[in-house]
Amino acid sequence: QQALHPLKPAPWADLKVGGPRRLLLLCSQRLDKERQQLPVWSARERLVELVRDNQVLVVIGETGSGKTTQIPRFLYDAGLAKGGAVACTQPRRVAAVTVAQRVADEMGTDLGAKVGYSIRFDDRTSGATRIKYLTDGMLLREALVDPLLQRYKVVVLDEAHERTVATDVLFGLLKAVCRQRPADFRLVVMSATLDAAAFTRYFEGAQAAYVEGRQFPVQVMYTAVSEDSYQDAAITAALQVHCEEGPGDILVFLTGQDEIESCERLISEAAAALPPDPDRPQLAVLPMYAALPPEAQLRVFQPAPPNTRKVILSTNIAETSITISGVRYVIDTGFVKSRSYSPRLGADCLQVTPVSQAQARQRSGRAGREAPGKAFRLYTEASFQQLPPTTLPEIQRTNLASVPHLPAPACPLQLKALGVADVVGFDFMDPPPRAALLRSLELLLALGALDARGDLTQPVGAQLARLPVEPMYGKVLLASGEMGCSVEAVAVVAMVSTDVVFHLPRGKREEAVEAHQQFRCREGDHLTLLAVFRAYSDVSRKGHERSHWCRAHFVNPRAMRKAMDIHSQLKEHLQALGIPLVSCGEDTRVLRRALVAGLFPHAARRQLDGSYKVIASGQAVAIHPSSVLRAQNAKPECIVFNELVRTTRQYARDAVVVEPSWLPELAPAYFARQHANQQHNGGA
Ligand code: ADP
Ligand code: MG
Repeated sequence: QQALHPLKPAPWADLKVGGPRRLLLLCSQRLDKERQQLPVWSARERLVELVRDNQVLVVIGETGSGKTTQIPRFLYDAGLAKGGAVACTQPRRVAAVTVAQRVADEMGTDLGAKVGYSIRFDDRTSGATRIKYLTDGMLLREALVDPLLQRYKVVVLDEAHERTVATDVLFGLLKAVCRQRPADFRLVVMSATLDAAAFTRYFEGAQAAYVEGRQFPVQVMYTAVSEDSYQDAAITAALQVHCEEGPGDILVFLTGQDEIESCERLISEAAAALPPDPDRPQLAVLPMYAALPPEAQLRVFQPAPPNTRKVILSTNIAETSITISGVRYVIDTGFVKSRSYSPRLGADCLQVTPVSQAQARQRSGRAGREAPGKAFRLYTEASFQQLPPTTLPEIQRTNLASVPHLPAPACPLQLKALGVADVVGFDFMDPPPRAALLRSLELLLALGALDARGDLTQPVGAQLARLPVEPMYGKVLLASGEMGCSVEAVAVVAMVSTDVVFHLPRGKREEAVEAHQQFRCREGDHLTLLAVFRAYSDVSRKGHERSHWCRAHFVNPRAMRKAMDIHSQLKEHLQALGIPLVSCGEDTRVLRRALVAGLFPHAARRQLDGSYKVIASGQAVAIHPSSVLRAQNAKPECIVFNELVRTTRQYARDAVVVEPSWLPELAPAYFARQHANQQHNGGA
């Protein structure tokens, strides 16, 4: 059966007849046929012509119509990238990776050759790369060294409707590039929503093109009453659809990795326990989230084997960034995890929030791409009516000093580094709230990245802009060089930048907790992570020793490999910046002081009743249940932490014990001001 051809050529050893070339050809021929059925295919000549004739073109097309996979290639094939390359930006790393792989397959080339991708800490491109998928944050980073983006003839700004901070900053930069390279630069803005007006208004004189999509009717269903737990409801709904509905795959929208993993297990168990029915297909449960390894991400695109129905459990990634063929049923929990600034807390927090009506429609639409479908919304129709009509652009809801998923703080540190003096007056499509901009400028001032006049400082500000981590961590790294603990600081930053390290499998929890015991460090999570890093590094790289070690210690091997990779890249960055690599050995005090030097805005102090308050904002926080400090029931007087997580209450994740006196010592201006503010507020 055609559909069963693997997308990638089989490994050499498995090839019985013919060489890999033939198989490759076979694959791309089949893929050619698939390409030609996409709605954008018939529009390709017109699209190319429009790009030739207009410096800025806005392309609007239904999700799944082939914009991302096809348009960059059309432009390349038409010779519009001659003497340079085509860049296509994606707000999501997963999309950059999976789409690049797909396009490489379609073109019959290896990933990293003519087609490649570049995301933070992972670059699969070469000198030969002509079509490059990259996160919008990576393009911003490239702009730091190449402000006019000379290496690209065409930039395709994809998923513009997502309006991430990085996309919004890119709008401004690309507008300037257009002005300065009128003859040899083309910009294509692509969006899945119908609102081209905002984009064409911003890029004066831009043309808009609409790609006619195919959309089959989708029957939308609501629950009769509100459900207590959307997770339970999602599991029930998935099984219900599986047992009662005709053929077609199921796409379930959940909010995050943990949730997806637990639903994956519960659905598989429940499906296995169903009473046997010869007419019912098998159920294959497939997760999809950003931290999944690339091989596993690509697995969701493979057609289900015969007599099997796929259930894909995905984060918001599948809303518009990626399209999975075969989906006829959508289950929408109505929630999404998003980052937003909480004025009450004075910090950003990652929070599960209801989707907007536009998002709910987009999700339902995914069921009707190939045939009529059904969408099950796990909330009542009345709740739907109460949802906000659209989602606010991220730039208007986050703390701009630190957008952690970006390679570097997009804004305004990056803007400053790009030579934009007046960040508040920058030509934003939708300006962020002035207060947020000012607050982030204040933080950058506190970190020493800006001087009192608001100019980027040398070398600190320029160095922070270059480091591929948030400015607070960047500051930790810079300080560690001076304080003499950069070897440890790099390891700690790598460990907090990777995925969840400690593995707690169900049924073996106690054993795992016991195994983790040896890494526990009284002084906090950063030092505990450092202990894991050190122990892992000591294990020989030979054979499978490191994997064995991970299994024995209930440590996630993938997270460790990623941490090692990040570690070596950060080391290179520090070397490039001339920061010495020195070790503090066992003196944790030095390291904790370096952590304070960057994380001081996230300092919290114990109150008389034993609770904690963030010093900067005065808000209450609790130490996260996963913290070693909780495990030991320690109640240090003062901590600094990595991030706030809001679930049932406000938690400080990854905390380390520090001495209160270090705060005014290492960030005198900040704490003097905080103190003054508090006095002021108290008096008012
Ligand atoms: P759009 O950008 O308009 O939403 P895409 O170009 O992402 O559309 O998708 C076009 C088609 O390519 C879809 O049918 C999708 O299923 C397919 N596709 C995209 N990536 C992959 C992949 N990695 N593997 C298999 N099919 C893919
Ligand atoms: Mg797309």
